[in-house]
Amino acid sequence: MSSNNFTNQLLDWFVNNGRKYLPWQLKKSPYSVWISEIMLQQTQVKTVIPYYINFMKRFPNIESIAKCELDELLSYWSGLGYYARGRNIYKTAKILDKKYQSIFPKTYDEIIKLPGIGRSTAGAILALAYKKKYSILDGNVKRVLARYYRIEGFLQKSNIQEKLWNLADLNTPSSNVDQYTQAIMDLGATVCTRSRPKCFICPLSENCLARFYSEQDKLPTRKPRTKKSIREVGVMIIVDNKKSVLLEKRPNNGIWGGLYSFPELGDGQTINSWLDDNLREPVEKITRLNPIKHSFTHFNLLINPTKIKIENKPKKYRIKPRYFWHKLPIDREIGLAAPISVMINEL
Ligand code: SF4
Repeated sequence: MSSNNFTNQLLDWFVNNGRKYLPWQLKKSPYSVWISEIMLQQTQVKTVIPYYINFMKRFPNIESIAKCELDELLSYWSGLGYYARGRNIYKTAKILDKKYQSIFPKTYDEIIKLPGIGRSTAGAILALAYKKKYSILDGNVKRVLARYYRIEGFLQKSNIQEKLWNLADLNTPSSNVDQYTQAIMDLGATVCTRSRPKCFICPLSENCLARFYSEQDKLPTRKPRTKKSIREVGVMIIVDNKKSVLLEKRPNNGIWGGLYSFPELGDGQTINSWLDDNLREPVEKITRLNPIKHSFTHFNLLINPTKIKIENKPKKYRIKPRYFWHKLPIDREIGLAAPISVMINEL
């Protein structure tokens, strides 16, 4: 079973089966590859496409990001999740603007130092945009390699990672590296899928060990599922009679970092004590709304919203600087977390 077989079979398959018309492939540049690769971390292609198209309309190059406000960039990320990615794009654009005259660097050592870019993303940028021989090891590639070579063990373990990186390096060719890189990602996304892989149309099926041993369902080895903990939070949807809503800008670290959300009740705080501390305006009506569940990778969040109608919003100087009044409906100028956006649309 030579590594050449693996590489050549994938390259042959790519000619008729690879994806060549994704939005970031049409006018490919280091910039388009960078943005798409960051968006594709943890997110599927079909979800990314509309976000990518909107983002590129507003931010066609590095300078346009470097000159914008983080709030605006995050508004284009609203709903995509994993907001640290958006914040890292912003930090990187600032560095590129200052240090590289807004030209994306060409070497691994420079690219790997940029915020939010790890070994696999750096490899993807170098292979896809600069056609340099660098390997990638994203989730799709790990799955293909773990099955083809029958690698058992949790993918997060460092010895398994090392094995997979060695296999990725072994198979990455010097020529057509861009096509090969796209091919292995496409095979993982469309044929060697997590459940029910389509081995009957797979170009690698002849020598695939998982297929030979009928272990496609067992590989890659899954971590036993641990039950997610549930966290609860009370939020207040405070609206005045001129249809303005009070929003809180969240700190840059932590969940929904840098996005706008509804004011939250702290530990042991009641709605009345919060209103006394922060608003001191007559309340017309308080309505408890149905709880909303939102899933994060490691826990579920139960949001308990209460709608509070007040007559007039207090003057700006009377509210804390992290709170802002926004006129409804809210357009795209600020970043909102997905469940907050849903609740606002229902107002
Ligand atoms: S034969 Fe099946 S398990 Fe093996 S690489 Fe192809 S799709 Fe994946």
